[in-house]
Amino acid sequence: MDHFLYKAGRLHAEEVPLDEIAAAVGTPVYVYSAATLLRHLKVMQEALTGQPHLVCFAVKALGNVAVLKLLGDAGAGMDIVSGGEYARARAAGVPGERIVFSGVGKTRDEMRMALEGGIRQFNLESEPEMEALSEVAAGMGAVAPVTIRVNPDVDAKTHAKISTGTSETKFGIPIARASQVYARAAALPGLRVVGVDVHIGSQLTELGPFEAAFSKVAALVEALREQGHEIARIDLGGGLGIPYTRSNEAPPLPFDYGALVQRTVGHLGCEIEVEPGRLIAGNAGVLVSRVIYDKAGEGRDFLILDAGMNDLLRPAMYDAHHDIVPLAEPAPGAEARSYDVVGPVCETGDTFARARALPPMAEGDLVAFRSAGAYGAVMAGEYNARPLIPEVLVQGNHFAVIRARPTYEEMIARDSIPAWL
Ligand SMILES: *Cc1c(COP(=O)(O)O)cnc(C)c1O
Repeated sequence: MDHFLYKAGRLHAEEVPLDEIAAAVGTPVYVYSAATLLRHLKVMQEALTGQPHLVCFAVKALGNVAVLKLLGDAGAGMDIVSGGEYARARAAGVPGERIVFSGVGKTRDEMRMALEGGIRQFNLESEPEMEALSEVAAGMGAVAPVTIRVNPDVDAKTHAKISTGTSETKFGIPIARASQVYARAAALPGLRVVGVDVHIGSQLTELGPFEAAFSKVAALVEALREQGHEIARIDLGGGLGIPYTRSNEAPPLPFDYGALVQRTVGHLGCEIEVEPGRLIAGNAGVLVSRVIYDKAGEGRDFLILDAGMNDLLRPAMYDAHHDIVPLAEPAPGAEARSYDVVGPVCETGDTFARARALPPMAEGDLVAFRSAGAYGAVMAGEYNARPLIPEVLVQGNHFAVIRARPTYEEMIARDSIPAWL
């Protein structure tokens, strides 16, 4: 459920018409709904009420500091994968004891930064990384709480580029080697084993792969306890999918996911951590864009928008589908035309949709890409020297720019010409 609805013929974010934001801030622009973000967080928190838990928002899905503050103030923890994300979470006021550090390539500098600033746990992904953390922590006279991410070799049945839980991927250690690696972790100075971590992929639309992975984790926790490890936490990762189309079958509900968690690992008495990103942010954001041209091609019409693949990469990168809707509500039964919806970037991959049915559109008309809150703004770049586009947060009947559009001067000022040129 989200808060982007037509009211009196205009698409709104909560109580604010999106065309008003487009007029005030310009296009393209990302717009997020605070009520939707908070609702999704609450649904996930409520799904886990049967057991002690912490919902850690995956910062990589949507890292704007205002969004992190909104979620952090509502009790969310944060799942981070870099020093930059750690800094963002702290700048948003999230305390270290609610931040978990994931990712396969944490550097020693990033480890030091988190240990100095405070961290709930490191989710370790390899033995070299474990040894590095041991060295860093021991060198600081600190003790780093750790889990080890196990790779359960489960097919998440999602897009190959976001599947992380099979043995061919770079993530985690093979679950079959877990006993050995945990024994090594327990023997190293500067580390304290606190739990087990798993994350099998993103945009999962079935519970089966979660069930297979969590059951393997439950068996592992029992085995590790028998080997003398104190396993107090299980981090189950993120990955629950969201509906990207109105017509498709909806992915499993958080409530059913919560019941599955209870059923598979509930008996272990562990604190449960989850790391949803897309589930919280995906349908809490839209990308608003303006039609530059309607260009007749051979046997097709191109709708050329002012948003490009550099602003929203998902269609080019994952063949992802985003619903595209006009900001002005089409009359019921209005005729539809078929468009190839494209951006202005000089790449054929800069195509958002082929043969998409839309009401007849004209230059200057506004559209919204739905479900663009997660992996949208965070993946944007400045290819073709197109400045990063702004982000706006709506709450009730007011909105604020939470990241301003840089001017060309500001964009260029980041470069410098050496004195010898
Ligand atoms: C990407 C990622 C997440 C979030 O995934 P979603 O599909 O957005 O929920 C959580 N944990 C880890 C370790 C990740 O890499």
